[in-house]
Amino acid sequence: MEKIILTGDRPTGKLHLGHYVGSLKRRVELQNSGLYDKIFVMIADAQALTDNADNPEKVRQNVIEVALDYLSAGLDPEKTTIFIQSQVPELAELAFYYMNLVTVSRVQRNPTVKTEIKMRNFEQSIPVGFFCYPVSQASDITAFNATTVPVGEDQAPMIELTREIVDRFNMIYGETLVKPEILLPDNAACLRLPGIDGKAKMSKSLGNCIYLSDTPKQVKKGVNSMYTDPLHLNIEDPGHLEGNCPFIYLDAFCTPEQVKRYAPQYESLDEMKAHYVRGGLGDGTVKKLLTQVLEETLAPMRERRAIYEQDIPGVYEILRKGSETARAAAAQTLDRVRKAMKINYFDDPALIKEQAARYKK
Ligand code: ATP
Ligand code: MG
Repeated sequence: MEKIILTGDRPTGKLHLGHYVGSLKRRVELQNSGLYDKIFVMIADAQALTDNADNPEKVRQNVIEVALDYLSAGLDPEKTTIFIQSQVPELAELAFYYMNLVTVSRVQRNPTVKTEIKMRNFEQSIPVGFFCYPVSQASDITAFNATTVPVGEDQAPMIELTREIVDRFNMIYGETLVKPEILLPDNAACLRLPGIDGKAKMSKSLGNCIYLSDTPKQVKKGVNSMYTDPLHLNIEDPGHLEGNCPFIYLDAFCTPEQVKRYAPQYESLDEMKAHYVRGGLGDGTVKKLLTQVLEETLAPMRERRAIYEQDIPGVYEILRKGSETARAAAAQTLDRVRKAMKINYFDDPALIKEQAARYKK
């Protein structure tokens, strides 16, 4: 079986460090590993509209921002198909059929949907489209026969639902769809990177982000404003690591080699943490190390972004071509689905013959 990746992001804002460690970094590594036959990366504009229906301009503006972030992070259109969800209408048709295979209560129990409804204060006014977006994600994944979906931890319930839909579809209509596996970051700190305010998840919607396209000044400002340990008032005070953002970010980003280079007084990050816990290490020193570490990731991205920013028509052309390729792939799956569901009336000569025979006098 071919090894295929599908993943993506909602164009509701520029991409941030949470996206990078949760999924984007992995995509670039997998792309360059050569181990996958096909890689599809989707800008989920239709999904973004499920909770931004009244703000289409925001979605439109952010499509190009996300594309620039992808290219600057190292996604290569020669190896990865980057496309825009709404330009592949086959996905909407698949979702329409999959909706029959899921119950309302099953979606209501989905913990990610629950959290997101609360976060958006939808309460009694949940748009039907928003409610159904886990089903539409199942169509995005299965349309490309994806075997692997590299995402952050918040997406685990979505992939689970997709797997259930695949099972149910294949049971009713015969073996048709490929069942995907989730690929989570292997580093615990990357599963769900907290916001700089210490809140559970760095998220565009919560405004607690450091963006991949931030200037060095903005990155520094973001790091300096990070939530640390409110009890660690003086340098000599013993410190606490739980929920301490700079340390969590160092876990996510800092390599042993970088500790040696930027903080040679420590053998390892663990030794630095022990010093903090003991007392005698100030937040400023930790934050300075983090800023240096982040800059190593972000500086090359900024450089690539500056180049692509000068060729915006070229970037749209990448998206147009990618959307064409994606559409052709999804159309093949849709053909199989229609056939399995017995709604392929006009390309089934046997059906016409059979019905004609029934009525022939
Ligand atoms: P929104 O608030 O509009 O939902 P978001 O910041 O949650 O935006 P998404 O576009 O929903 O971002 O997520 C895209 C991908 O990035 C998903 O794979 C998701 O798991 C991952 N991701 C997003 N935020 C984080 C985070 N803080 N830590 C790890 N992974 C994340
Ligand atoms: Mg999200």
